[in-house]
Amino acid sequence: MKPIVPFVSEANEDERKAWSTALPTALKDIAEVKAFDTLSEQERSRATVAIVANPDPAKVAAMPNLVWVQSLWAGVERLTAELPQDGPLIVRLTDPQMAETMSEAVLAWSLYLHRDMPKYMTQQRQRVWLGHELLLPAHRTIAILGLGKLGIESARRLKSNGFNVIGWSRSEKSLDDIRTYCGQDGLETVLRQADSLVLLMPLTDETRGLLDSTAIEHCKPGATVINFARGPIIETPALIAALDRGQLSHAVLDVFDSEPLPPESPLWSNSNVTILPHISAPTITSTASQIVADNIRHFFQTGCLPESVDRKKGY
Ligand code: NAP
Repeated sequence: MKPIVPFVSEANEDERKAWSTALPTALKDIAEVKAFDTLSEQERSRATVAIVANPDPAKVAAMPNLVWVQSLWAGVERLTAELPQDGPLIVRLTDPQMAETMSEAVLAWSLYLHRDMPKYMTQQRQRVWLGHELLLPAHRTIAILGLGKLGIESARRLKSNGFNVIGWSRSEKSLDDIRTYCGQDGLETVLRQADSLVLLMPLTDETRGLLDSTAIEHCKPGATVINFARGPIIETPALIAALDRGQLSHAVLDVFDSEPLPPESPLWSNSNVTILPHISAPTITSTASQIVADNIRHFFQTGCLPESVDRKKGY
């Protein structure tokens, strides 16, 4: 008899439906995927691995023998906040297709800023015919904050498009043709040089509020920001103040403190902000299901777990 892998999700109905078809298909030769609510007491207690997407933590706790949970999302700040430290290990989704998709979004919105599209859109509304100086990509320094799976792919894509790319991460990195920095001193150096900042790091205790008013003061006057990571990494009031006084010229925001962005948020009507509804790199059901299936197959065949989240670091 095939082992049962519970699927625990409070994601919206459409998402749950899509996964409820894709996961059993991808795992059909390895395991039976069953929604948590349909499991018997015995099945709950036998489960050693579960697939989770915004799970109710009480449901995860109701499976006492879980060794690990496979998240369907790349960002796991909610799981690290809600699951106990001594609970099951957390494996986040790492999908090369997601890195590719994110790098495409980073390139697209970097070009949007590089070619002054927000400025030309405002001018069109005002019927203004006025060209602005065209800079070459090589004369624009774009800093990627967070050089992980998504950041490195994005840095390389920007580089191959001719931009001057620099990067910042928690630990030291060495990348071909991309100057990298780490630590607090490194952050200040990066902020001073960058014409555009792209945020691609996880939300942790260390990164929450990382771009506050002090950090923004170090930015080059008129710099732009693209936040594709998590909303609380930037302090929103500090961002709005910096945009209003021109310290920053434009922000492309895909992620927010609260999502969906509430209608009363001042960000909606700020002409120096472009709002995206968390679409820069969504999980792709088809490729993600295969990755999840490979991880679970490997675990059942060898007992080896995929790399899991370091609970001390928070990612
Ligand atoms: P990852 O592979 O874990 O990489 C994270 C990077 O951030 C690493 O380079 C890490 O440094 C760096 N970092 C972490 N804490 C730091 C700190 N305190 N100071 C400086 N650098 C720090 O993660 P990923 O797969 O690239 O994903 C990054 C984030 O993107 C996710 O956590 C998620 O929040 C977000 N995301 C957003 C979307 C979207 O649609 N908007 C989609 C997917 C993911 P080290 O290399 O030194 O460890």
